Amino acid sequence: LEPFMEQERVASGTVGTAKGRIVMATVKGDVHDIGKNIVGVVLGCNNFEVVDLGVMVAADKILDVAQKENADIVGLSGLITPSLDEMVYVASEMQRRGMKQPLLIGGATTSRAHTSVKIDKTYDEPVVWVKDASRAVGVASKLLSEQKDEFSAEITAEYDKIRARHTGKKRQKLQKLQAARDNRFTFDWDSYTPPEPVTPGITVLRDYPIEKLIETIDWTPFFISWEMKGVYPAILNDPNKGPEARKLFADAQAMLKQIVDEGWLKAHGICGFFPAQSDGDDVIVQTDDRSGERARLFNLRQQSEHRPGVPNHCLADFVAPADSGKADWVGGFAVTTGDGIEAHVQRFKDANDDYSAIMLEALADRLAEAFAEHLHQRVRKELWGYQPDEAMSNEDLIAEKYQGIRPAPGYPACPEHTEKDTLWELLDVENAIGIKLTESRAMWPGASVSGWYYSHPDSRYFVVGRIGKDQVEDYAKRKGWDLETAEKWLSPNLGYEPED
Ligand code: SAH
Repeated sequence: LEPFMEQERVASGTVGTAKGRIVMATVKGDVHDIGKNIVGVVLGCNNFEVVDLGVMVAADKILDVAQKENADIVGLSGLITPSLDEMVYVASEMQRRGMKQPLLIGGATTSRAHTSVKIDKTYDEPVVWVKDASRAVGVASKLLSEQKDEFSAEITAEYDKIRARHTGKKRQKLQKLQAARDNRFTFDWDSYTPPEPVTPGITVLRDYPIEKLIETIDWTPFFISWEMKGVYPAILNDPNKGPEARKLFADAQAMLKQIVDEGWLKAHGICGFFPAQSDGDDVIVQTDDRSGERARLFNLRQQSEHRPGVPNHCLADFVAPADSGKADWVGGFAVTTGDGIEAHVQRFKDANDDYSAIMLEALADRLAEAFAEHLHQRVRKELWGYQPDEAMSNEDLIAEKYQGIRPAPGYPACPEHTEKDTLWELLDVENAIGIKLTESRAMWPGASVSGWYYSHPDSRYFVVGRIGKDQVEDYAKRKGWDLETAEKWLSPNLGYEPED
């Protein structure tokens, strides 16, 4: 409708009377796009003028444009945890430049708590966390109306309260690192023979048939990406959401067919298995003859107080320790279904078809996750081959009923993003299949997934959560970092306030 709305405005002489101009971007180092694009469409349909700068946009560029274009509001979005710091930086730059525009914050890892504690106090003008796209219009309208002062005062009062609670809050009690290590997951390694990969080394799957990935798609997150919450397939028959969910699902099927038939996207994957043993909280990746050390995976350990009998987990505990004498293995993988996507997204945007542009990005993300699921199954059945007879429905796969895990660097069991650098080196990911890492270690193209493979029967996902300064110092030493660098990369996990 945009061209017609524009014509209408020209015809009626009301050009420039949009409700307000909003400059939006995904911050530097991050590739989050779908949620931001939905917000853009919703605002556009409500007569806001949206200047969307896209993804991976540096603070200077966002603010230069906002100032040059006389924006009424600036909106920032981000998906991965390092973006939280980048948003604080953008806010501090707005303060330094003496800007007056309200700042909106949104995206997966953002929260009311982070916005109030870290961003709001950095910038004197209103800073508002926008929970989802449906709130964007309400918030933007209020900020640009006579209710602005009243609304800002409400938000300020709410955020002051959150900040007070945050600082006054009794911090969850953390154990000393040594005590947490003493309460590790233990296992009788003598009684166990680690499975040897059927296909050791690296396997590259270029131009993998997309049609093979469709059956392992998990559709529930597809609806979530469209901000429709509900579990597939039940959502299709939901009394309220059902009709729209069915339309969305039918459109998705039609586009999937085109993606396959017309070759819109190329899928590439890579995986590898390496001789490994654990050394404390590290996993040592050994040379092929196990005589030397090729790389080290640095892991973090849960430090919160647990009930008796509940271990303080660390991924290294799932790999045979060096002194067990057992020859173990660890694996890694990366997959992408984003090769070729840009031209098609652009084609839809040029045709003012935001719906199809967003649909394609959402489907590419689903296909990437489906590829990770599909490859993991092939790994268990044939490439590592420790579960050759596994037979599971897609529901069983989604419920992770199989043996072994594929923890993703940047997610709760291994939350520190730079560990992806080691994965990229071991597999030579960028040369083999073209996925790049940004300075925040987001993967580009966005429709990409990566992780480690652990095969141990007791391996499971867990949340590292808050860690103490003793572990941060220990981690810094192991990584060869100074404390400040460690605190930057571990900032979402710090159980203490670092010194400025
Ligand atoms: N069916 C889902 C699969 C993705 S979510 C989908 O299509 O979206 C599950 C994946 O997230 C896991 O396979 C793992 O790679 C990652 N993950 C989940 N919990 C994790 C944790 N605690 N630590 C690390 N990675 C985790």
